[in-house]
Formats: sequence, C-alpha cells, structure tokens
Amino acid sequence: MSPGRPAALRPQLLPLLLLLGAGLQCLAVPPLLVFLIDGFRYDYMDDLQALPGLRQLVENGVKVDYMTPDFPSLSYPNYYSLMTGRHCDVHQMTGNYMWDETSNKEFLIGGNQDSRLSFWWEGSEPLWVTMQKLGKKVFMYYWPGCEVEILSTRATFCEEYYDYPSAQNLIDSIGNAMNVLSSGEAHMAAIYHEKIDVEGHHFGPKSPEIRAAVKELDAAMQLLNRLIKEKGMVGKLNIMLFSDHGMTDLQWMDKVIELDAYINMSHISKMMDRGPVVSLWPRDDKYQENKAKLPYWKNDSGTASAWQKGWHGYDNEFQDMKGFFVASGPDFKQNLKAAPIRSVDIYNLMCRTLGVKPLPNNGSWSRVEYFLNGSDGPALSTTLCCMGIFGILLALWE
Ligand SMILES: [Zn+2]
Repeated sequence: MSPGRPAALRPQLLPLLLLLGAGLQCLAVPPLLVFLIDGFRYDYMDDLQALPGLRQLVENGVKVDYMTPDFPSLSYPNYYSLMTGRHCDVHQMTGNYMWDETSNKEFLIGGNQDSRLSFWWEGSEPLWVTMQKLGKKVFMYYWPGCEVEILSTRATFCEEYYDYPSAQNLIDSIGNAMNVLSSGEAHMAAIYHEKIDVEGHHFGPKSPEIRAAVKELDAAMQLLNRLIKEKGMVGKLNIMLFSDHGMTDLQWMDKVIELDAYINMSHISKMMDRGPVVSLWPRDDKYQENKAKLPYWKNDSGTASAWQKGWHGYDNEFQDMKGFFVASGPDFKQNLKAAPIRSVDIYNLMCRTLGVKPLPNNGSWSRVEYFLNGSDGPALSTTLCCMGIFGILLALWE
C-alpha cells in the first residue's frame, strides 16, 4: 500500500468525479434482450392473472393495445419489417415463398438452403448487421436468417433455426442469452420462438392447445425474471417482446377460390405460396388482361382437405391479424398501457435503447417515444449528455 492521503478524498476532485460519473452513465448503454414470438395474437395475454411471468414484465414496463403487422401479415415479411423498420415493399422480403426470375432460385419458408442466399436479405440492412458493423456483438437463437451473410456481415453468434425449436430450446436460449448479456459479451441477444404459431395453425386461436402454449411461454418468462434477479441485472437490462402477426379461426373449406375459374393459368409462368395470399408471375403482356379478374386464389392441393384451423396473411388491418408488444427495463416507463403501434415502429425503439443511429425507415417515432423514461425525445437526452461531457472537459481544463 502506498502512503499518503488517498486522492479520492481531496475535496476539489469531488465535483469532477461526480461529473465524470454522470457523463459515463449517459454513455453506458444497457444491453437489450428481444423475443420474437411467432403468431402471438394481441389478445392471447388478456388474462394476465393466469400468466405471472408475463404479468411481471407488463407491470414493470409498457404494453400496447396491439401491434399492426405490415402487409402481408406473414412471418418473413414482418421479421424483416421488425428488424429494419421498413415496409415490405421497401425491404423486399415480400413473402414466405418467393421466386427470383433471373436466377430461377426459390425462397421457401423453413430450412431450404437457397433461402439462405444473401440476395434475398440485402434489400435492406437489419439491425443486427448494423450493430455488428459498429463493433457491437449480437447473439441470436433460432432467429430465422441469423446464419445468413448479409452485406458481408454475420451475427457474432447464431444458433441456427430448424423446424421447429422446442420448449427446451427456448429455456436454454434464455439461460445462454442471460449469460452473455450479464457478462458484457453481448450488446443484444435475440430469441425466436415458434410454437405458438404452430399450435395456432393446427388447432386455431381459441383452442386449449394455444392456452397451453401461452402458459409454456409464461413459464419461460418466470425463469427469465428469476435469472434477471440472480444475475444482478434488475434495472440494467432492457427487454422487448413482440410478435410478427396474429391468427384467425379458419373455416377455410367454405372459402376456397379456384383461381383457374377466373384467369387463364397458361398466362402464369410461376405461382408461389397458397393461403390468404398467393404470388403470381404473369407471362409477358398478360398482366393487364388478367389483373381485373383477380384477386382470387387457388387451393393447389386438388382436393378440398387441409389440416389447418388457423391462418394469417390476410389484410393487416383485420383485427385478428394484430400482434403484441411488451417492453420493460431501465429505459421504459412502468405500468404504462399504450396506444397501438405498427411493426415498423419497433426498430426505432430498439435503436434508441441500444444507442444506435437508425437507418432511414418507415416507423413513427411519435407513436413510441412516450414509452421511454424522460420522454423528452432524442434531442434533449443528447443535449443533456453533451452538457455532462462538456462539464467534464471544463472541469479538466480548470
Ligand atoms: Zn404461421
């Protein structure tokens, strides 16, 4: 031990240390944990008394009435609207099934290797790529596309999606994500969970199977709440949970539309997807001729049979298509019931809490700004931060 009076006790240094502390605090950015819960309709958590894990997050944070997805209200288009803040026609991830006429490659939902070709994903830059470019580390678990090289960049860590991740995968991902977030290894962790969408398709949105799947998710949220305490992360971690779309009951046998009863199918060179929306590539000069007779879709199976009791992809303003959004953590107000938002709005919130400048996007800042503590908007916070740093510089100068 060195002799003499410790420097920290000198009274003239105290204001400097306080200013330095304030300056560092405004520069320190809490890590972010995001959950993409596929097919979680806005009203699946209406009975919060039965869902203690989700209830705790809601009471400690912000919950919107509902989140309107982008059209089409399908998974991949909205995965990318959530991570880019852009409408589907801008980021160009327009369906779960797509076709590239030039290369004759097909994008198919699920594990299809051609869907991992970079060009499908480079219509816009997703947040995790922007973060990696800035030297911030992103750990992703089962998030569709996290293994893809996008604009020459990959996530720091990607547990690849497979068909389809189990409840145990969700539990393990939460444990692993909390480890890397609490150790400072990760600036953001992103977890994808599919089961609620799968059960919604099989059994419909009002089924006991959906209620069981929501309870299972709630048990995972109870674990998360425990881990936040155990790892000393209370007030130090921002969390956002959201879905890509909702789900509606489907009596689809009554609603099959045989496309070839309306248009000449020999004028169509390619058809992708079936269900609420279908993509058609008309042969040259046949578009106008057929356009007036659309929109109708063909059940491509040939026979009127299906296993689905729920579906999505319809008009995104249809109430059953609405998803949810919940956020809590040091940047968010507590117990705030907020007005509806749109999927493109969430990107700006993620950027703001991560201290990342958002790329140009279609989100509305005024729809989400008041979720944040202070609610003064980016300009005032930045001003206060700059004043703090200016104060430090002044003190050092003197
Ligand atoms: Zn689905």
